[in-house]
Amino acid sequence: MTLETRGLRKAFGGVVAIDGADVQFQPGKVNALIGPNGSGKTTFFNCVTGMIRPDSGSVLFGDRDLTGRAPHVVARAGVGRTFQLCRVFPRMTAVENVLAAVRPGGLLHGLRSARRQDETERAYGWLTRLGIEHLAGAEARNMSWGQQKLLELAGVLMAEPRTILLDEPAGGVNPALLDRIGTLVRELNAEGRTFVIVEHNMDLVMSISDHIVVFDRGRPIAAGPPAEVRADERVLGAYLGV
Ligand code: ADP
Repeated sequence: MTLETRGLRKAFGGVVAIDGADVQFQPGKVNALIGPNGSGKTTFFNCVTGMIRPDSGSVLFGDRDLTGRAPHVVARAGVGRTFQLCRVFPRMTAVENVLAAVRPGGLLHGLRSARRQDETERAYGWLTRLGIEHLAGAEARNMSWGQQKLLELAGVLMAEPRTILLDEPAGGVNPALLDRIGTLVRELNAEGRTFVIVEHNMDLVMSISDHIVVFDRGRPIAAGPPAEVRADERVLGAYLGV
C-alpha cells in the first residue's frame, strides 16, 4: 500500500512548516526523508501519523484517507512510528514496555490467559529479534539510549505495521548499534515492511535507502534513488547554499 500526501499544508502562526507537499513513498521499499533543519520533516511525520492536524491537503494510505485521523486510528490502519526523543516508560521493564505498546494502560488485565501468553511470547520474540532479550526484565531507564530506541521499535513491531516511520533512528546511537539498526531495517524490509526514515546520518541514509525524498522549506524538491539524489544540484543547493 502506498503512503502519500497531496497538497499537505501546515502553518504555525505565520510560519509555514509544510507548504503544499505532494509526496509519494515507494511501497515495499526503504524510503528516506531528508532535508535541512527546519525544512518540515518532523511536522510532516506528525501530520501523517495524526499527532498534528494539517490545515489542508490529504494523507492517503492505499485506498484509505487518513487525513486528520487520530494517532491510534493511523496505527491501526498499519502505519507505525518511532519518535526522535524515543518514547518508552522509564520505570517499566523492557517486556512490560513492549506489551504496553499494544495495550496502553491496561496491560494484559482481562485477557484470557492463552492470549496473554501468546502476546508475552511475541514480546519476547521481538526483544530477541532486536538483540535485547537479555534486558527483558530491566527497567527501561537503566538501558542505554540505543537500547531504548530498539525497545521502542520492538513496541512498534508488536502492532505488525506494514509501514514504519522512524524519526532519527541513528541519533545519539553508538557506531556498533548503528550498524545493527541499518541491518535490522534492511532485514525487516526484506520481510515486506515499508520504511520511511528521517535521518541526518547521510552514510546510513545512502547505504540503506532505495528511495530518497528531499525536503526544503516544507516541500519536496527532489526524489529518487541515492545516487541520483546525491548528484542533484537542487539538493546540494538546499544543503550547502551553493
Ligand atoms: P525539521 O524536522 O525538518 O527540522 P520541523 O518540522 O521541526 O522541521 O520545523 C519546520 C518549521 O516549523 C520550522 O520553522 C519550525 O520552527 C516550525 N515549527 C515546527 N513546530 C512548530 C510549533 N509547534 N510551533 C511553531 N513553529 C513550529
